[in-house]
Amino acid sequence: MSPIDGRSILIVGGGIGGLSVALALARRGRRVTVLERAAQFGEIGAGLQIAPNASRVLDRLGVLEAIGRHAVFPSRLVFMDALSGERISAIDCGAAFTSRYVFPYLVMHRSDLLDVLLAACRAEARITLLTAQDVRRAENVGDGVEAVCADGSVHRGLALVAADGLHSTIRRMLSDDAPVAAPYVAYRGAIPMEEMSAHAGLDNVVMWVGPQMHFVQYPVRRGELYNQVAVFGSRRYREGSEDWGTVEELEAHYAQTCDHVRRALTKIRRDRRWPMVDRQPIATWTQGRVTLLGDAAHPMLQYLAQGACQAIEDAGCLADQVAAQGEDLAAAFQAYQEARYLRTARVQLTAHFFGEICHAEGVGRTLRNAWAAQRAEADFTYLDWLWGWQG
Ligand SMILES: Cc1cc2nc3c(=O)[nH]c(=O)nc-3n(C[C@H](O)[C@H](O)[C@H](O)COP(=O)(O)OP(=O)(O)OC[C@H]3O[C@@H](n4cnc5c(N)ncnc54)[C@H](O)[C@@H]3O)c2cc1C
Repeated sequence: MSPIDGRSILIVGGGIGGLSVALALARRGRRVTVLERAAQFGEIGAGLQIAPNASRVLDRLGVLEAIGRHAVFPSRLVFMDALSGERISAIDCGAAFTSRYVFPYLVMHRSDLLDVLLAACRAEARITLLTAQDVRRAENVGDGVEAVCADGSVHRGLALVAADGLHSTIRRMLSDDAPVAAPYVAYRGAIPMEEMSAHAGLDNVVMWVGPQMHFVQYPVRRGELYNQVAVFGSRRYREGSEDWGTVEELEAHYAQTCDHVRRALTKIRRDRRWPMVDRQPIATWTQGRVTLLGDAAHPMLQYLAQGACQAIEDAGCLADQVAAQGEDLAAAFQAYQEARYLRTARVQLTAHFFGEICHAEGVGRTLRNAWAAQRAEADFTYLDWLWGWQG
């Protein structure tokens, strides 16, 4: 028997996307129930970059100030050549950035963001949070929806938003597509700042780029922890095989990098690896009163650091459409899909393109470095479409 009364909008998945949309809908006066599969809400021990297109929405949700107490506001995003150790280019996050985008670029620990969202959801009387709910199916039934869980329990609601991630079960209602594996893998984690030897730029986001690899570093949790992500393309990748992207390959691939990257690599945790996976964009996210959000709708390679940002954008847009369309939630979900699918498809596809630029070798690498070096640090020409979004 479901503890909810059928008057809620159901959210499947309580990750960054699910909790953001729960909060966004509640702020618009809607009752919401979050159904999370895990026994408790949680995020992995790594960092996250939040660009102004998302910090703008977090401000509207009333959580940006609390987030600011845990985050780091980098001075610059710096691009370095991972082979030569030379600085290629940088984006200045100072006065020109602030006057252009108003809202900050920030970096933080994922669990700090989730904790802030969770605390805000718990403080909202309109939000019910349920864990250990493995939703296997959603159905449009009459003027509402039903979510059917693996244990046979059924939750009835007014509508359902599936924020259940890359392997979304609800997405199967809308598409028979499958996740697409890139032959790339990431090793990542945050370590105490004391373990990093001092060098210029510990307050920056630093992205080292090289042949079929990149290495990202930035501080999180008020500068107490340092987050690092080591990505590389595996030559041993075979579809269906698990034996690729190994620690031995990581070491061998990074042997070509400069001293700084090689030293930093020794601090990367090796006990877990994340294969890089996305999906092709789709135009249909909505069926009646069921729709998709976040990675369930548009999983992307992380190269532009935008997956969570796009989920947060989705949340703001969906709540706006629900507020605009009154009780017609199917119309609201349709309008949300139309407002979002090309925007997110552009980010998904650009992430691939940006990855190719980062991972270039030979003449491609020389051309990238020469082109990027000409950019002024406060030139935002290529970033406005992404960071300046105000939809
Ligand atoms: C290496 C790496 C670095 C990244 N860096 C950045 C970055 O810097 N900035 C950025 O914006 N993005 C980044 N991303 C992307 C970002 O992590 C994701 O896009 C984001 O977490 C997606 O959030 P989500 O809530 O849509 O999905 P998820 O985080 O996957 O959450 C899905 C939730 O649904 C739950 N769930 C799943 N199935 C069910 C079910 N059947 N029933 C109920 N609940 C279910 C899960 O337990 C989970 O809590 C990065 C990704 C990677 C891999």
